[in-house]
Amino acid sequence: MLQISVRPEIRRLEPYSPGLSIAEIRQKYGIAQVIKMASNENPLGTSPLALEAICRHAPFVFRYPQEGNPRLARTLADLHNVSPARIALGNGSDEIIDLLIRLLVEPGRHAIVCFDPCFSIYPIQAKVSGVEIRRCPLGIEQNDFSFNPDALLSLANADTRLVFITTPDNPSGYCPPREAVKRLAGCLAKVAPHCLLIVDEAYIDFADDEAELSLLASGALPENAVFLRTFSKSYGLAGIRLGYGVLPQPLAEYYWRARLPFSVNILAEEAGLAALSDTAFRTATLTAVRKGRRVLLQGLTALHCKVWPSSANFLLFQPPENGISARACFEALMEKGIIIRPLKSYKLPEHMRVSVGNPQENAAFLAAMRDILNNA
Ligand SMILES: *Cc1c(COP(=O)(O)O)cnc(C)c1O
Repeated sequence: MLQISVRPEIRRLEPYSPGLSIAEIRQKYGIAQVIKMASNENPLGTSPLALEAICRHAPFVFRYPQEGNPRLARTLADLHNVSPARIALGNGSDEIIDLLIRLLVEPGRHAIVCFDPCFSIYPIQAKVSGVEIRRCPLGIEQNDFSFNPDALLSLANADTRLVFITTPDNPSGYCPPREAVKRLAGCLAKVAPHCLLIVDEAYIDFADDEAELSLLASGALPENAVFLRTFSKSYGLAGIRLGYGVLPQPLAEYYWRARLPFSVNILAEEAGLAALSDTAFRTATLTAVRKGRRVLLQGLTALHCKVWPSSANFLLFQPPENGISARACFEALMEKGIIIRPLKSYKLPEHMRVSVGNPQENAAFLAAMRDILNNA
């Protein structure tokens, strides 16, 4: 009989927990109309220009894409005012995260450093690679999920290869001032000269003032920083899988050597280019998210929930104290056909995360919450 013998770190691995899909909820609860506010997707859907590009290029999917996706790389380089040789493209920024770990961090020798909680792909892909993970608890004393750069730095030494931060953070929505990120990169260069600071800006364009908060947008890029962005959120292309990074140029060269060929497919490339040109859709998205975020913040606060300020397209919150538990609240919402994100897998069992929806979805969520809390 075949005995499958996988590496011990894979045997111990807990998979990424994506939450139920709309189809699964429909089936489990017998609900026709499901509202999904669980995965920080674009509340306005997909850019019409991207959709049109996907249809226009569908007949050509029998072809392989051009290796390196040079048109898209050039467009992104122009957008961020960097050399195209610094752009890395991936099948979602998840692919870039995974590959950076594999390129830079040797199992048994090197470590990565990240906050706890943080975006779960960082520690999961580090575990897949079998490398040591050092985690720094987040703003616990202040209960505001703020970053303590000194505490993070204290975990980095000569063996550390990657330090991850998310600005704004997931799942809290907290965004540090960009000067603090810059200072962190500077201090890191001193204590760990071989280490890179990964600045994941997946949500930064939702901030009220991206130009003020984004270190990438400032144009003053520290030598040891890698910036990550994605088409999954504000560009409305989560399902087609497209992300990118701005890397130090020599690292970008190794990235392209090691990356599987063609992992950014033809439709993703064309959709990405079209989405970049669709400024109307993007402006509408950013306006809708910033407005919806205020509506949800006010609505949840009025219901006596604890809500954390957010610069992203989601809000972290807790139901009122001495009332219903987060788990019961999540279940009750699900019975009403509304999916949000419980945060047990982030070790925050008493917190929940809700993505900003469109105006109807936001209103339906707040009405359901009012109903649930009044009957608790
Ligand atoms: C959603 C998200 C991403 C994007 O991942 P993709 O693979 O590009 O879909 C990256 N980082 C964080 C923190 C996220 O929440």
